[in-house]
Amino acid sequence: MGPNVIADQLSATSYQLFSDYHTHPQGHRVQRYTQTLLQPWADSARNLGLSDIAFTDHDRYHAGISFDELDRLRERNPDLRIRAGIELDNDPICSRAGRSWIEKHWDKLDFVLGSIHFLDCPNQMFDSVPDGAAQFEACDIDAMYADYFGRVREIAATGLVDCLAHLDLIKIHGHRPLAEIGSLVSETLDFIRVRNLAIELSTAGWRKPVNEAYPGDRIIELAIEKGIAFTTASDAHSHAQLGHNFPILAQRMASFGIQQVCVFEKHTRTHLQL
Ligand SMILES: [Zn+2]
Ligand SMILES: [Zn+2]
Repeated sequence: MGPNVIADQLSATSYQLFSDYHTHPQGHRVQRYTQTLLQPWADSARNLGLSDIAFTDHDRYHAGISFDELDRLRERNPDLRIRAGIELDNDPICSRAGRSWIEKHWDKLDFVLGSIHFLDCPNQMFDSVPDGAAQFEACDIDAMYADYFGRVREIAATGLVDCLAHLDLIKIHGHRPLAEIGSLVSETLDFIRVRNLAIELSTAGWRKPVNEAYPGDRIIELAIEKGIAFTTASDAHSHAQLGHNFPILAQRMASFGIQQVCVFEKHTRTHLQL
């Protein structure tokens, strides 16, 4: 498909995305959930025309999450669907406690994201910018991709996640494999499909050195072929980032013919038409 055809389709689209399923009210530290912390997110959602948002703070900050405060927020904002979620990752130090917390609170959670933020280096997230890029120096990038996707399959296999976050995060610093990406990711997509998990369409990569949304075009094509469901996501770490670049994401989805997104309530997935 040539760029002119895509441009025609882009101008023809009028999608209004309505859900953001990757947000971090606590940012990068433990902050107790309060109405003061959370209400600005509800206000931002309303201002953007979003009607369904999931809070998915990192599992290492689970001590800040309060289901009672989420209930109060829902009462104060009855026009919004506000989902209790969390982002579980593979932190070699913290994620054991995170998994236990998720198991304990599974019935109160609507949605769990699964993420890979760590490769071999136990005290450095590979996706931190710019420090994480040092792990890629003088490395076999294809082998790192294969290792990364193996870890994605591991977190998908825990049975504790509903959706995989930023599926090709490994590209964050701009390192590209020599092998065709489809051959590296296909097994992982099959694995996700068999477990009936969703993946997110995230705008966060547009804010990173790679300057490309997650996941890349080829992965989206394969996911569509395999019948994998999508959420929409900003990975906002501030309420000002909620729904970041969603109009461009909507155009991108239209160019792939994606007309449905999924939302979650108590881990039950519903597909909604755009
Ligand atoms: Zn993440
Ligand atoms: Zn995140």
